[in-house]
Amino acid sequence: MSSARLQTALARYDRLYINGAWVAPEDGGLMESIDPSTGQPWALVAYGGPRDIDRAVAAAREALSGPWGKMPGHERAALMRRFADVYAKHAADLAVLETTDSGRSIREARADIGGHSNGYHWWASLADKASGRTIPFDSSVHAFTTRVPVGVVGAITPWNVPLMAAAWKLGPALAAGCTVVLKPAEQTPVTSLELGKLFEEAGFPPGVINIVPGYGQGGAGERLVTHPDVDKIAFTGEGATAKAILRAGTTADTLKKFTFELGGKSPHIIFADADIEQAMNAATNSAWTLCGQSCALGSRVIVQRSVYDRVVADFVERAKKVRVGQPLDPATHMGPQAHHEQLAKTLAYIEHGRNDGAELVAGGNRLNGGAYGDGYFVEPTVFAKAHNKMRIAQEEIFGPVAALIPFDDEEEAIAIANDTPYGLTAGLWTGDTGRAHRVSSRIDAGMVWVNTYRFIRWSTPYGGFKGSGWGRENGIEALDSYLQTKTTVISTTGRFPDAYAQ
Ligand code: NDP
Repeated sequence: MSSARLQTALARYDRLYINGAWVAPEDGGLMESIDPSTGQPWALVAYGGPRDIDRAVAAAREALSGPWGKMPGHERAALMRRFADVYAKHAADLAVLETTDSGRSIREARADIGGHSNGYHWWASLADKASGRTIPFDSSVHAFTTRVPVGVVGAITPWNVPLMAAAWKLGPALAAGCTVVLKPAEQTPVTSLELGKLFEEAGFPPGVINIVPGYGQGGAGERLVTHPDVDKIAFTGEGATAKAILRAGTTADTLKKFTFELGGKSPHIIFADADIEQAMNAATNSAWTLCGQSCALGSRVIVQRSVYDRVVADFVERAKKVRVGQPLDPATHMGPQAHHEQLAKTLAYIEHGRNDGAELVAGGNRLNGGAYGDGYFVEPTVFAKAHNKMRIAQEEIFGPVAALIPFDDEEEAIAIANDTPYGLTAGLWTGDTGRAHRVSSRIDAGMVWVNTYRFIRWSTPYGGFKGSGWGRENGIEALDSYLQTKTTVISTTGRFPDAYAQ
């Protein structure tokens, strides 16, 4: 197809959502969004440049002193509930769009996105609960605290779960009374723009939420993190990007607040005394879910030696049952990688695994041609005889690659689990309650699951130790990071001594 004809065939998302209006980019432009199941563009999407970010930040600032800023918490809650209901109504369509844009399987997208409205309702229920406290001193003063919004929030999201990453920021930000400029990843901008329509339908005042897709370094993302009028950045992405943001001189100049949700290399420990069948259900799913593109992926499966061979054999059998295919087909378990660079990265790590001496026992190949065409499909992959010092065990791959590492006793399992720069999540399977407590308490991770895995909800605080980030998303802890404490002291006498009288 000629490029002119192709462009007219594409879905058009050629406007940014700024100040409650759909506007053309000022210094951005139009970019193609690729459907990773075909490798072809499917949508033409507006992206913003620095001047567009300036417009969005100005609108967000103004909205803080408009109807939104003056709205009592219970009215904000009601508005958020309306949004949650609108979201629920459109969830099935959102799932189709997110699957098309990111390649995640429709069955996963439906399950995930179908639950987001519950999260927005939960956040709504907190919108009028941020109370301060009275501080006892003496009868000369009445001292008390109030909790006020931090102000304008720049929300920067990655490409693997755009709507979930947005929900984790928008929910607490709106509950706190903040306003937001959302910048989704360049690879998967479509569903974030769809959110603008839902906020319109729910009746949000202009400027409260602004949505500006764009490029990170040198583009909309960089302008947002260095903008002097942005009070907080809520960022999800790679550690290397977070460090680059912190190093950028102008970021430091603005002294804004940051929360960082970064990568992971989560240990998933299987003790011999566990219910192995259940552990395998979790270990295989958590290694391959989202085609491996989850920060909570149980990518290091640490297995007690007496059951190691059984676990390896079971992993191999179960890999054969994974239906890799067109993501919109409800029968498909695993879609493609979300973009070409990620496909190349996954294949490179599979090479590292081979070269470093791990034994490839399942998968390891790109799937293309025939029904896979030029899509970015890859087989569910398993390495046995992996060692924790190998690159496939130390570095985040973000592909469907499990490294199975043997251990002998509890001490060794804990040592291996903690031996990475990351500390996001961890799982362990055991039939011994004492061991569950002993081991979970010694794992350096922001979230530990025992006899389950990847149980993540709006109400359970989520975030990393060590190199996996700063702060928490979800849970009341997340609300705190969108609020600041203001202390007010009122004299009960109105008297103030003259320091210079004598
Ligand atoms: P990146 O760090 O590459 O990008 C994240 C976002 O930051 C994108 O919107 C990107 O824009 C933007 N960005 C890039 N450079 C800059 C910059 N200099 N200034 C401001 N913004 C910038 O991460 P990925 O999108 O590749 O996402 C994958 C990563 O996200 C993985 O490491 C994964 O573990 C992590 N992640 C963590 C989660 C958690 O909750 N802990 C959940 C999901 C993912 P652009 O796309 O244009 O580059």
